[in-house]
Amino acid sequence: MTSIHDTMFSQLADKSLFEQAQTYAYVYIDAAQERHVFPHAEDIDALKAFEEPLPKAPQDSQAILELLDSVGSPGTVAQTGGRYFGFVNGNAIPTAVAARWLSDVWDQNPALHVISPTVAKLEQVCEGWARQLLGLPEETVAGFVSGTSIATMCGLAAGRYALLQKQGWDVNTQGLFGAPEIRVVLSEQSHGTVFKALALLGLGKERVELVPADAQGRIDAAQLPELDSNTLLILQAGNVNSGAFDDFESVCAAANAADAWVHIDGAFGLWAAASPNQAHLAKGIDLADSWSVDGHKTLNTPYDSALVLCKHRQALTAAMQATGAYIEYSEQRDSMLYTPDMSRRARAVELWATLKFLGEDGVAQLIDGLCQRAQQFATLLTENGFNVLNDVVFNQVLVAEDTPEKTIALMQNVQASGECWMGGSKWNGAPVIRISVCSWATTEEDVKRSVKAFVAAREMVL
Ligand SMILES: *Cc1c(COP(=O)(O)O)cnc(C)c1O
Repeated sequence: MTSIHDTMFSQLADKSLFEQAQTYAYVYIDAAQERHVFPHAEDIDALKAFEEPLPKAPQDSQAILELLDSVGSPGTVAQTGGRYFGFVNGNAIPTAVAARWLSDVWDQNPALHVISPTVAKLEQVCEGWARQLLGLPEETVAGFVSGTSIATMCGLAAGRYALLQKQGWDVNTQGLFGAPEIRVVLSEQSHGTVFKALALLGLGKERVELVPADAQGRIDAAQLPELDSNTLLILQAGNVNSGAFDDFESVCAAANAADAWVHIDGAFGLWAAASPNQAHLAKGIDLADSWSVDGHKTLNTPYDSALVLCKHRQALTAAMQATGAYIEYSEQRDSMLYTPDMSRRARAVELWATLKFLGEDGVAQLIDGLCQRAQQFATLLTENGFNVLNDVVFNQVLVAEDTPEKTIALMQNVQASGECWMGGSKWNGAPVIRISVCSWATTEEDVKRSVKAFVAAREMVL
């Protein structure tokens, strides 16, 4: 019997396995534009084929790939086509996917410069490019993490460290028990992951001062409590429902005067700063102390890609510090200083490829395109008698019928049509359909076709 090692060496030499995967990938790419956007019920049912006992003996690699494609591919959601508007999900741009394929073969671990000089260099370059595109202060540093959930946790951890440090308390060594109190001030419309980060950091989801939001979901600056130098203030660039942006200029000015720490959750919206046509939305973001932003939403990198950005290098690296006798920090960029993880994948490769492919103008074009398609959606839906509930300032459109039941029925009919897919949310306590235009591949034609699906779906409700 051949050993698994012999098998693997021969697979590396022969490459047919990689060619097999490539063949499936090409078929998938071509089909994704026209297929039913959400998988058919029978395709989801067929996923049962994966439910089997863990094999005792090694299995045949070709058969593994064959199963993954024949059962797995049809069960995926066609997110890479132009008519997926669910959640706030991006669509990886081709250059980035290709770069990821290559870097998958490298299998680098960017924890330390000494483990991967190439990825350390690409991270350093991306840090500078992101700072430039977003107009953030010169001293801003970046950590490359899996998503905004983690990026927010890192930014808030840096803030927690710095606020307590100012009071002579080292949270890393002493923890929070007996620590001076810090205040957390945030909008009632903050994203769920912000509350999760507060829970993870021992700050408490409910031990916070909630500020009411206005009708568009922006923090109501007039109702901000008095801020002080013990305050962690959390703002939002892009409300996850309406896409609205907080008024950073005035709120950050007040926070800076009080010496509070400001974190901005800009998962998809922070990139507004990178387009001259949308930058007014992000005016004043440079006055914050830390920021979280995804690559895998509006920037359209592959999953999993996000940045925690922090104006205070020492606060971020202190919050993320790890030590070990074998850890060799260098004069170069040691990535694990900026993130909670040690070993991880080289996600900066795709981010670098995305930014280099697009360039400054391409990023602006990409963002503007999403905003234009969202406007087109709002216009066509309104023309066809649907109620658009929000001011469409960025890429999010909220739609509802006159009763909750009709709204839900409309959404289910649209989803079942297979023409497009968007999910639901709650707005002012009532169900809404939430359209997020987040894919570079969405064309004007896709929007027209999707609105037709809305019209047909409404006829079915009536
Ligand atoms: C998506 C989103 C998050 C969470 O980001 P992940 O990348 O999914 O972890 C946080 N805040 C807002 C506003 C978001 O839209």
